Amino acid sequence: ALLQLPCPGCGAHLQDDDPDAPGYLPARALRPKGQNAEKPLTSKVCQRCFHLTHYSKISAKGLTLMSPEQFREILAPLAKQRAVVVCMLDILDLSSSMLKEVSQLANAQSPVLVVINKADLLPSSVKLGHIMQWIWKRCAASGMRRRPRAVYLISAERGLGIRGFVQGLVAAARESRTDHIYIMGAANVGKSTLLNRIIRGHPGHGSKPTRELTTSVVPGTTLGMVRLPLKNAATGERIVIMDTPGIVEPRRVNLLCLEDISEMKGILPRRRLRGITYRLEQGKSLWLGGLVNIALAEGKPWFFTAYVSEQVTVHVSDASKALNETYRVQSVKNGLLWPGGLRVPLATVEPVRMCVEHGTWKRTCADIVIPGLGWVALLGSGSCTVHVRVAGGGTVWKQEPL
Ligand code: GDP
Repeated sequence: ALLQLPCPGCGAHLQDDDPDAPGYLPARALRPKGQNAEKPLTSKVCQRCFHLTHYSKISAKGLTLMSPEQFREILAPLAKQRAVVVCMLDILDLSSSMLKEVSQLANAQSPVLVVINKADLLPSSVKLGHIMQWIWKRCAASGMRRRPRAVYLISAERGLGIRGFVQGLVAAARESRTDHIYIMGAANVGKSTLLNRIIRGHPGHGSKPTRELTTSVVPGTTLGMVRLPLKNAATGERIVIMDTPGIVEPRRVNLLCLEDISEMKGILPRRRLRGITYRLEQGKSLWLGGLVNIALAEGKPWFFTAYVSEQVTVHVSDASKALNETYRVQSVKNGLLWPGGLRVPLATVEPVRMCVEHGTWKRTCADIVIPGLGWVALLGSGSCTVHVRVAGGGTVWKQEPL
């Protein structure tokens, strides 16, 4: 039966019918034998959250993909209600489509705050002032309805920039006379990690919700809206934070082709990114594990610097090898390329052609972004054409360099 009780870990409604559907909890776990049927049910996490937390276990069926339509339906109340809306982005995946989507879903009276997570991964060469300028530019170019009220750069996991962000949040709520705050962003940007940090550690917001949200490397962990009421112990001021399900970008590289949780973990960088640079001549190509191949199709030699998790192997081969699926399979099997991404083929995929013009040796000319995986910075003089192939045909784009 479907219970009118959400799982406190992911927000899906608890049910004991279908083990493969969201919110499943066996009946015996819901009400242990001998427990008085009159007693209200205590809130428990669903089996999926339990497994994600305790065993890092997930089946392919457990990868619940929410369609953009379902996402919009769940977030429909946002258009009617004045609330503070937080748009959270991942530094590895700054697609401006999310900014536009969020500003369209929000009520016209609602202030929008932009927060960029995983700042701990930024290479040391990137200056803070420069990145803030760059982000403001991207907001302007994204087609957002209004300018965001503020932009914050944080690391939810390391606790960087959280205090300033929470202060900004509370101030925005007070000014707009609302106590509702919606945290929005694509799956895996770190929403649950941020909320757990706010709940756990922020001085002044010490009220204790019953348990923490489920965080995991598996995209799509939060499935419904999760409500978190918080009270400032000193002032008595109350706010209600709503954790929303993230959109799982259906064409994101990691979902389609990775085989297990160790591969999903492996592509998420844990430390500050350090670029690995190769000089490629025409006809050569760069592999990022077995997932991505970037070939220099035309042009004089250019420098390619890969910013990816240190577990992902970066390897140079002839560009023609990318057309040969046997080469990829063999290289993955003998450990030359990791992770493999062999669930889907690479060779059949049409390459994305990108032209880079007006390069100079003085500074990086363009970044090729592979959302969820990282980026490759291109440096060279004159112009060049690159061909990018991604396992399963995931989205890639070119952006002004960081
Ligand atoms: P959600 O789907 O948006 O709720 O994302 P989660 O909170 O479950 O986090 C997704 C993944 O990103 C997890 O593996 C986190 O450990 C990782 N993560 C979250 N915040 C940070 C951060 O500040 N830095 C880094 N390096 N990883 C983070």
